[in-house]
Amino acid sequence: QQNEEKMIEYLDELEFLAYTAGGEVLKRFTQKLEKPNPKTFIGTGKMEDVAAYVEQHEVGTVIFDDELTPAQQKNIERLLKCKIVDRTYLILDIFAQRAQTSYARTQVELAQYEYLLPRLVGLWTHLERQRGGIGMRGPGETEIETDRRIVRDRISLLKKKILKIDKQMETQRGNRGALVRVALVGYTNVGKSTLMNVISKSDVFAENKLFATLDTTVRKVVIRNLPFLLSDTVGFIRKLPTQLVDSFKSTLDEVREADLLLHVVDISHPQFEDHIASVNKILDEIKSADKPTLMVFNKIDAYSAEKYDDDDLMVERTGAHYSLDEWKKTWMARTNGDSIFISALNKDNFEDFRKRVYERVREIHVTRFPYNA
Ligand code: GDP
Repeated sequence: QQNEEKMIEYLDELEFLAYTAGGEVLKRFTQKLEKPNPKTFIGTGKMEDVAAYVEQHEVGTVIFDDELTPAQQKNIERLLKCKIVDRTYLILDIFAQRAQTSYARTQVELAQYEYLLPRLVGLWTHLERQRGGIGMRGPGETEIETDRRIVRDRISLLKKKILKIDKQMETQRGNRGALVRVALVGYTNVGKSTLMNVISKSDVFAENKLFATLDTTVRKVVIRNLPFLLSDTVGFIRKLPTQLVDSFKSTLDEVREADLLLHVVDISHPQFEDHIASVNKILDEIKSADKPTLMVFNKIDAYSAEKYDDDDLMVERTGAHYSLDEWKKTWMARTNGDSIFISALNKDNFEDFRKRVYERVREIHVTRFPYNA
């Protein structure tokens, strides 16, 4: 039961990703298997169903909610005779569309080549088998060897380029002086950009699609004469392709060097606890799990819970009708440390939020500039 819900949730997310990439989803297929079929990911019968559907509706692309092995991809392509995309490829594609700075573009390109490289190998072994293998030095093979070398050269060039930009960015960060640094973190689509906009009164691109933010933005913000730096980082997502985890590690430097984290959570999302866990896992990976953190539970306007009134009748109540005191009594407030409940969209509890951020930043500021306190 619970697994089924998880699967639906993953597929919802995949559909959202497909939509973000500019696609339209016609149909979903699911299958329960102990483990994926090593040759074709799904079973033979299911594959026939999919093939029939693809043919009947002239489907252009079939998307799989996992990373396919190069061999699986080739096999499925041959069976379905249309474009086969896996979750990793889809995410890389979206990142490629959205990369705005040359740094982000370089990182995405690197990730794409790293994804491509083993797939060239896959093609090679497949050809080798066809030709009888060992000892064969056919033209196709040489071609692929050349392709592989080109891709490898490109990868090492991109890595060098990234290293250089990393150093430049490090210097830039160093030049920002002793201002307190605050970083917005959180799962993708929780409202980080929206919050950044309302705090800094600037216009950061916000839309209801995944990965609206790819590049880090840093803004200087002043609350009651207290200046600090606020950064908005790339949205975290479940099952992030490993190629991206690595290449975006440096983008996460902003988080690593922050003095305070604002961990934004979309509580209107049924799986928000999973989201918190995914974000915490990444924070742990970049050794930032122990940083001072303020949990910002966002979208209270869209939150609805089954509540019981005095006569024990179930009533629908949306979060917008909760008072601050009521929010503080919820389990979320009790289990998640320092927390606050807001709607970035409607600016509900916004003054309280600003006050809390001010207090937390001031604590840090005072330790840094004791004479000005
Ligand atoms: P990010 O990916 O975390 O930067 O999220 P965005 O700031 O781009 O917001 C994602 C979507 O959530 C947008 O459609 C926002 O308008 C919407 N959103 C942000 N804050 C709220 C909120 O407090 N309530 C509601 N209902 N929607 C919100």
